[in-house]
Amino acid sequence: MAVIMDGKALSEKLKNNLKNEVEGLKNKGKNPCLAVIIVGDNPASKIYVNNKKKSCEALGIKSLEYALPADTTEEKLLTLISSLNEDESVDGILCQLPLPSHICEKNVINSISPEKDVDAFHPENVGHIMIGDYTFLPCTPAGVMEILKEYDIDVSGKNCVVVGRSNIVGKPMTMLLLKENATVTVCHSRTQNLCEFTKKADVLVSAVGKPNLITADMIKENAVVIDVAINRLESGKLCGDVDFEAVKEKASYITPVPGGVGPMTIATLMKNTVTAAKKKV
Ligand code: NDP
Repeated sequence: MAVIMDGKALSEKLKNNLKNEVEGLKNKGKNPCLAVIIVGDNPASKIYVNNKKKSCEALGIKSLEYALPADTTEEKLLTLISSLNEDESVDGILCQLPLPSHICEKNVINSISPEKDVDAFHPENVGHIMIGDYTFLPCTPAGVMEILKEYDIDVSGKNCVVVGRSNIVGKPMTMLLLKENATVTVCHSRTQNLCEFTKKADVLVSAVGKPNLITADMIKENAVVIDVAINRLESGKLCGDVDFEAVKEKASYITPVPGGVGPMTIATLMKNTVTAAKKKV
């Protein structure tokens, strides 16, 4: 049976280290501060924002929350971001996605100052990730890399397959694996015979958002399986893309959902906020 990779425990360890760094910054007169904007009342977004706020509080990072109504205009949102860009006391700015359909996500992402872009979504930061020279790590993929490191899984020369090619998970995940010398294959909704690719993966990262997309017959014996997805079933239970119960019998390592990649995403966000604050000391 696979080793269950405990992202929750690892995130607590990383956050404890960050807590000491925050204390150090405060002793130097710098109080790290993260501004979080949420537009509308998407229940999942509210949970994510609340978790981010709780993590800030636990670490001693000041958090500012801007909960805007769903009918907020793009202009009003951009004006808020512009004032946060100007505000010296704010180190990180995060605008929770998705946004209501009348607001252009691209305009919003582009409006956040790259120095405060703790999600690393701004094209300038994306470019840095592409060339492997970055200040801010893309939160979810960096969380995955930390989990692999914690369990001594070296991806160098390995066949790594990433399922999903979004700008926030799949593509930056590919870049981070490539930086560590993996041979990476990216699959997506147009990939034919997904199984042919996943079966060859020494390390499989699934970031799609479809329960039971990855079944035991689709993976190689002793593969490392990282499940990024967060799906809520009708019962209210959370699950990933992977048929966890069956796949854990065949894999060598596997992340659970919840308690795998999710907490690591938040830990990386906290790390990025501290990094942004450190630059001002
Ligand atoms: P997107 O919807 O933006 O991307 C999904 C990707 O999956 C797309 O590239 C899509 O392909 C691909 N895809 C869809 N169907 C299939 C299929 N049948 N076979 C192969 N590929 C397929 O989602 P995100 O990247 O934003 O998120 C992915 C999942 O990760 C979601 O469940 C989300 O909730 C979760 N997530 C978890 C985080 C965490 O902290 N753990 C953080 C962020 C997201 P195509 O490009 O062709 O459409």
